[in-house]
Amino acid sequence: MITPLEKYDPQIYELLRQEAARQSACIRLIPSENYVSKAVMAATGSCLTNKYAEGYPGKRYYEGQQITDLVESIAIERAKKLFKVDHANVQSHSGAVANLAAYSAVAAPGDTIMGLALPFGGHLSHGWKVNFTSKIFNSVSYELDPKTGEYDFNKIEELAMKHKPKVIISGASAYPRIINFKAFGEIAAKVGAVHLSDIAHISGLVVAGLHPSPVQFADIVSTTTHKTLRGPRGGMLLCKAALAEAIDKAVFPGLQGGPHMHTISALAVALKEADSAEFVQYAKQIIANAKVLAESLMEKGFDLFTGGTDNHLMLIDLRNKNIPGKKLAKALDRARIETNYNTIPGDPAKPFNPNGLRIGTPAITTRGMKEEQMKIIASLIARVAENIDNEEVIAQVGRESLLLCSQFPVPEHFLVQK
Ligand SMILES: *Cc1c(COP(=O)(O)O)cnc(C)c1O
Repeated sequence: MITPLEKYDPQIYELLRQEAARQSACIRLIPSENYVSKAVMAATGSCLTNKYAEGYPGKRYYEGQQITDLVESIAIERAKKLFKVDHANVQSHSGAVANLAAYSAVAAPGDTIMGLALPFGGHLSHGWKVNFTSKIFNSVSYELDPKTGEYDFNKIEELAMKHKPKVIISGASAYPRIINFKAFGEIAAKVGAVHLSDIAHISGLVVAGLHPSPVQFADIVSTTTHKTLRGPRGGMLLCKAALAEAIDKAVFPGLQGGPHMHTISALAVALKEADSAEFVQYAKQIIANAKVLAESLMEKGFDLFTGGTDNHLMLIDLRNKNIPGKKLAKALDRARIETNYNTIPGDPAKPFNPNGLRIGTPAITTRGMKEEQMKIIASLIARVAENIDNEEVIAQVGRESLLLCSQFPVPEHFLVQK
């Protein structure tokens, strides 16, 4: 069957086909990535992309909202139920925009925000110096204890007492352990700050009950929708009833125009998928896989930041191997293993040429890989690292990666039990 895309734009059709083949023929270990279900994909590619819906259900600025109002209300109700919150805003186009909206809901330009420094695993949008958030707001960064890799709450409290931030941000993009959201909430309460908890990476684990939820300890929770939550690309803001109006106004009309209703319909589908025993099982397997992958890598002589993981990701510290992170990431990519180079907390190396590699298990777990495959993947990674300048070995590892992928095809709809 020739699809309309194939007929009208064979070049883009072919590129999409090649990307689908690439995603299927490589071991995808980037911890912020996943494979969405066919149901989520179908909603993403739906006619709702044609519809303007500025405003919120029941109060829009355009006519023809009979369906959009229902779709957005369903997404909101599902988010509220799943995360156990008073209010959900499902319109943010991305995680970064959701954070900016959260700051602007509770702080004015020039006010102080305080988040984890980027080289320690924080996100750009937490006020890092190259990000616009640091230009609008006075940004103060806290760091992790460089020795233990743990949050040093005495130091964070000291910094908060000194700078009296309007917003304290908890959450990270590269932290492999459980985050103590309660401690952040207590510090925020002490200095009169709003606690924004950004669970972009771990929201799938949080709804599965496998990472403590920040909901009880945070005024606002932000998340992406496409990482462990396994939905379409986007952002979401969750909050108590008292902040609902401020959050909604900050997203629209504060920062955005029309919401992406096709994305919101796909988010509704993903939230339904996440509210299931199958999803809890999936999230459990993500963590079980990460633990085995971490242990197997350490057995092969790799140093892991904090000595392991409690969640879906880990940071390989390559200083003992004397291989730059970027060089290993590129060699692994040639061997059909997709990763990203990353700074190691406390390492003075520049973010563009860091000594770390960040990997995670959400996508390969969606394909059905289990503990046994994690051991194989660890040894594939080790062989590339040990033969970093030997293209023959790298090509051989690539063939073995392909073979492994062929045994775990990207599922048609992975919520159907295999
Ligand atoms: C991924 C991520 C974001 C940003 O999400 P985008 O959708 O890429 O803008 C924000 N915060 C954290 C902690 C993240 O890991």
